[in-house]
Amino acid sequence: MREDLQVFDDVLQLIGNTPLIRLNRIANNLKGEFLAKVEAFNPGHSTKDRIALHIIEEAERKGILKPGSTIIETTSGNTGFSIAMVSVIKGYECILAVSSKSSRDKIDMLRSMGAKVYVCPANVSADDPRSYYQVAKQMHEEIKGSVYINQYFNELNIEAHYKTTGPEIWKQTEGKITHFIACSGTGGTISGTARFLKDQNPDVRVIGIDAYGSVLKKYHETKEFDAEEIYPYRIEGLGKNLIPTATDFDIIDKFVKVTDEESAHMARHIAKTEGLFVGYTSGAAFQGVKQLAEEGEFDENSKVVIIFPDHGSRYMSKVYSDDWMSEQGFFDSKNEASTHRIEF
Ligand code: PMP
Repeated sequence: MREDLQVFDDVLQLIGNTPLIRLNRIANNLKGEFLAKVEAFNPGHSTKDRIALHIIEEAERKGILKPGSTIIETTSGNTGFSIAMVSVIKGYECILAVSSKSSRDKIDMLRSMGAKVYVCPANVSADDPRSYYQVAKQMHEEIKGSVYINQYFNELNIEAHYKTTGPEIWKQTEGKITHFIACSGTGGTISGTARFLKDQNPDVRVIGIDAYGSVLKKYHETKEFDAEEIYPYRIEGLGKNLIPTATDFDIIDKFVKVTDEESAHMARHIAKTEGLFVGYTSGAAFQGVKQLAEEGEFDENSKVVIIFPDHGSRYMSKVYSDDWMSEQGFFDSKNEASTHRIEF
């Protein structure tokens, strides 16, 4: 049991310093040591607490945010929840423009944290004035002194991880990390953490996890945006249909693509083997590790750190629902039930 009993002034003091947990069971047939940085231990249950706090505190330092100011973002996901949480404590108004595709549960969660949520039609193009991008932009223009987080195009997203996630991992591994593996969405986590780690040791291998249906891997390899790579997929938070400036492609050595189905089974498998109830992209990240191990990426001396970005509770009606898994055909294709086992 932990012994660091301490009293905190508010929930924001608990952001960061998340544990590295050795994956003793799920990785026991792989060469090397595998450590998960479990970001669900943040108070908002995801890695996005770090960027919400950093971006908001930078705006305060620059004098942009004053008590009662408004913070705007276009997400129903983890970032929205983290911004809402930070706004509660710091006394800001939080406005989130979300797509009508967002689940009722997610919208209710954001409203529970005091956010004002504008639900915008999903079936319009990004430049339509009704789209959540345009609604957010317009509100930002209209509300004087407001801050638009704009995580895909905000350099402070990278900086948050350069200042926190990177140094934590370096310290936790006593500088012995050989591989850093993270899912890439905005790219902030992988870019900022990798930049710090490579500043300490340029030999650390940095590998991004991307989704089939996303443009990131191809762009990394060719420096060209290939719209033909784009098609719908189910994993949320991983991959993208545009090139975010919050991704430093030069710092990433390689990308690996993973499927919706294998990632979903892997998330469920992590819960059942390691007792870690983590989100869909944690399954994707470890699925990527499995593929890399098969390609011979690791040896006995490898010390591999993998980011597990968020908590499983956000996926109760998806990955952790047997009905949803069946509807996706994730059980049918292998004729398996929820006791699905993964062989290494
Ligand atoms: N996993 C989840 C669940 C996420 O919400 C995100 C953020 N989009 C990521 C992974 C990827 O993190 P980043 O945006 O820092 O690349």
